[in-house]
Amino acid sequence: QYINLVELAEEITEEMQLICKKNQHIVYQHTGEIGHFSLDQNLLKNALVNLISNAIKYSGEDTLIEFTTCIDDDGCSISVKDNGIGIPEEDQVHLFEPFFRAHNTGNIPGTGLGLNIVKRYIELMEGKMEFVSEVHKGTSFKVSFDKI
Ligand code: ATP
Ligand code: MG
Repeated sequence: QYINLVELAEEITEEMQLICKKNQHIVYQHTGEIGHFSLDQNLLKNALVNLISNAIKYSGEDTLIEFTTCIDDDGCSISVKDNGIGIPEEDQVHLFEPFFRAHNTGNIPGTGLGLNIVKRYIELMEGKMEFVSEVHKGTSFKVSFDKI
């Protein structure tokens, strides 16, 4: 089915803002064209909710989470950027393995399954997933889909 990316992102922002910690704000921004994409709405929503949940969980109070979508001639990209605890470099290669959790999660609860599922969902939709992260600075995940 065809989904309206901006509408979906606005809906997710509203829902996720409700489960933020004190003074955490999700700022949503779209750049480029407005368009519809042939993507599975449930898979995409679930994947983005997972990424934003991580951003909320692994950042402190009084922080911003930047959620952006971009549509251009090549397709669309979606990113979730936080100013949280970051992912240690030596852990980054294992990030998408089931049950893997980085060494700096302390007593933050989790099973280590979320990202493995997100990656499968994105791959099912023939998308690509990348991230950059630095300890104590933050993490940014980017998901992109080529125009077909
Ligand atoms: P859950 O299965 O409940 O999502 P989880 O959050 O531990 O548990 P994943 O979402 O798969 O599992 O993430 C795997 C690990 O990657 C996390 O345990 C954490 O160490 C690290 N991680 C993921 N997202 C972030 C982020 N935004 N900032 C810092 N670390 C992160
Ligand atoms: Mg998670």
